[in-house]
Amino acid sequence: MVQLALTILGATGSIGCNTLEVAALHPQRYRIHALSAHRNVEKLAQQCKRFLPRYAVVSSPEDALRLAGMLKGSGCDRVTQILSGAQSLCHVASSEDTDIVMAAIVGAAGLEPTLAAAQAGKRVLLANKEALVMSGALLMDAVRASGAQLLPVDSEHNAVFQSLPRIAGQGLASSGVSRITLTASGGPFLHRPLSELADVTPDEACRHPNWSMGRKISVDSATMMNKGLELIEACWLFDAQPEQVDIVIHPESIVHSLVSYVDGSVIAQLGCPDMRVPIAHALAYPERIASGAPQLSLAQVGALRFLALDMERFPAVALAYRAIKTGGTCPAILNAANEVAVEAFLGARLRFDRIPAFIEQVLDAVPPQPATTLSAVLSADAQTREMAARLLSGQGGKAQ
Ligand code: NAD
Ligand code: MG
Repeated sequence: MVQLALTILGATGSIGCNTLEVAALHPQRYRIHALSAHRNVEKLAQQCKRFLPRYAVVSSPEDALRLAGMLKGSGCDRVTQILSGAQSLCHVASSEDTDIVMAAIVGAAGLEPTLAAAQAGKRVLLANKEALVMSGALLMDAVRASGAQLLPVDSEHNAVFQSLPRIAGQGLASSGVSRITLTASGGPFLHRPLSELADVTPDEACRHPNWSMGRKISVDSATMMNKGLELIEACWLFDAQPEQVDIVIHPESIVHSLVSYVDGSVIAQLGCPDMRVPIAHALAYPERIASGAPQLSLAQVGALRFLALDMERFPAVALAYRAIKTGGTCPAILNAANEVAVEAFLGARLRFDRIPAFIEQVLDAVPPQPATTLSAVLSADAQTREMAARLLSGQGGKAQ
């Protein structure tokens, strides 16, 4: 068996750690080419000692020195070269010596290395949905031009991918697909009275009922902006119109998403809520490998519920429909406004129930442009962050 070289961008995060666990079950298939972390040098040092990557990448030169100190004398220091900075992420993601790139950095910081991997024709496992939301056309064009393979790791999109027909090169309609339905757990506040959402704390918002994830995506799940970003992600990945994508609340997170066909058939993918399942699927596709996740027992689950989405409770979803329908840099503006809002909420500078209205205010304030170049996308991102920061300080933060 040919051993494939795996680069994990965002190795110390929730998806990164799960990816290493799956890879560790199959040492004959995967060796670790590069691991990256932002600031969690301690965890990266442990991972380096265990997996002996060729490269370890951190954000700052200071952290590179700290990592070098931690690895000194471990044996790993003879194998692992330590790099720092955003350019180094692009370098390891596009290196000739890597076959697979797991894009698991959170937020806009993952865009450039993900794009670099796509341009270099890699097999890209996409967890970093923000990259695709920001630059859907550019990323999909890069994949087509280089012959890269883009495999969705987000559980819903991985489920859709598994449920679509394998007829290459055809649009949804000519494949007999009528709709895509994304499931959403509804997050921790599905039944919380709306009047109580003002007092939600960051820890409460991050306590997801079914999944254990990083803090940013946990807050996104609580506001349902996560589902909004996933709607945009689905449109790009599957070449779907926003009207072809539905969202249904499914509190058990067992049915990960569904595809409906014109003949009335509906195909879905089911499994325990464990990210190792879509990660293993994307790593080995089109083969199947063990993921380490427990097998699903429907008898044990008992009942599966499905509810209509309440747009009044979750206005963030409507903002995402607006952004994808507007097009251009509007999804990048939505994403940047959301990243600022989540950070402000986590820092106790914005109330939880104000997040969607704040994002709407930013969308109204920043005019969208065509998103035909990376610099147009990055400048929309920067302009939005500036505007959002101004609006946030003008509002007096939490009092709003
Ligand atoms: P996390 O916060 O647990 O990990 C994020 C990783 O990115 C860490 O390794 C961190 O060091 C790195 N990072 C953060 N900021 C960075 C920066 N500025 N520069 C370089 N590296 C940086 O996040 P997560 O939950 O693992 O999510 C990662 C991505 O996967 C997100 O885009 C998220 O939406 C997506 N995703 C996550 C899950 C999940 O179950 N956790 C499910 C679906 C999709
Ligand atoms: Mg998801």
